[in-house]
Amino acid sequence: MTEAWRPDDEDERRGAFGPVRVRVPAKVNLHLGVGPLRRDGYHELNTVYHAISIYDELTARRGDTLALTMEGEGAGELALDDSNLIIRAAHALAGYAGVLPHARLHLRKQIPLAGGLAGGSADAAAALVACDALWGTGLSRDELAGIAADLGSDVPFLIYGGTALGTGRGEAVSPVLVRPTSWHWVVAIADVGLSTPAAYRELDRLRDAGTAGAPLGSTDALLGALRQRDPRVLARTLGNDLQDAALAMRPALADTLKAGEAAGALAGLVSGSGPTCVFLAADAASAERIAAELTSAGVCREARVAHGPVAGARVG
Ligand code: ATP
Repeated sequence: MTEAWRPDDEDERRGAFGPVRVRVPAKVNLHLGVGPLRRDGYHELNTVYHAISIYDELTARRGDTLALTMEGEGAGELALDDSNLIIRAAHALAGYAGVLPHARLHLRKQIPLAGGLAGGSADAAAALVACDALWGTGLSRDELAGIAADLGSDVPFLIYGGTALGTGRGEAVSPVLVRPTSWHWVVAIADVGLSTPAAYRELDRLRDAGTAGAPLGSTDALLGALRQRDPRVLARTLGNDLQDAALAMRPALADTLKAGEAAGALAGLVSGSGPTCVFLAADAASAERIAAELTSAGVCREARVAHGPVAGARVG
């Protein structure tokens, strides 16, 4: 009698017989220092990334072509063709590894579109990790991060997650090593997104006009605060050079920030290029109260609680 052939443990781990499910977090910038515009069109950044517990999920199955479907945030709005970062990431990995880019991919999206939470970059990181497992290409995280850097400045960070320093245009990532602490956040999501390139252009305009705030400079105070593990200390060091630009483009965000602080947040700031606002809470119960108050104040589409840091794109 011939025994039915079964995949072994190694095949299962690699996901060689799919489906492979990858969860990837959103990011906030605890410090987003924007330096001068470089000759390549990017700004020099000095940032501290922090991965929080709002997740997209990407499922990868074997297929005869490369196809993407989705549900959730942005469904019906987000193009699923070659312009989607998931498809671009799959092609990039296949090209690097010398395999055919064949997979059926399904995205369950909870990270809002154009929200300043790097949802597209998160999806690209998820696609690299998922396809690597599906195709059994077995690349290291550092190799995946190398491919990720060509897809977008935030993509390498989302391969690693945690809390990390980002330099260059944000693609050069090094982990911030501190004793584990869980920080509690409230994430206020707006009705309509903001374009990241438009926010950088607005900052350049404000700086040329001499009306931008003083640049943040070094991350030292923030890194010191992370080590102290006291949310009141961390609250005093959060900052974002793009916040003035986001507020100039969307003045109503000032009301969101005020409402969060009135509800008891230790600090509030615009996340990345906005329009999402994030608030640091003293503890989990306080975060729940702030989220409820922000929702009832009508200053955002939705307020969610989250914690961080969390791991980057991971199978399982
Ligand atoms: P960031 O914080 O990195 O600047 P963001 O959170 O403001 O980004 P995203 O949701 O990442 O904004 O996407 C910005 C644009 O990227 C979208 O409007 C869309 O045109 C494009 N894009 C391509 N692929 C994706 C994807 N899988 N998910 C979201 N956006 C995508």
